[in-house]
Amino acid sequence: MQSVRIEAVATLGGEGIRPLYEVDVVCDCGQNCLVDKSTGEPSFRHRIAPGQGQDKILICRCGKKYRLHPQRTHIHVSSV
Ligand SMILES: [Zn+2]
Repeated sequence: MQSVRIEAVATLGGEGIRPLYEVDVVCDCGQNCLVDKSTGEPSFRHRIAPGQGQDKILICRCGKKYRLHPQRTHIHVSSV
């Protein structure tokens, strides 16, 4: 990937404030607004929270894929 923009946003839930991130990956080909594989939706702001289970796979129109992998305190972003 060329770059990753991560914006911290906070949400109020039943247990108080919990961290949430909005992630935009710029692909090697220069495009962003990648598509969430699970929903088919393109977005500049893919929401993901640490400690909440499932990976999110982002797909570029050029075919490259990237994984957002939530861990307990942080998010890993990697090429697939
Ligand atoms: Zn691409």
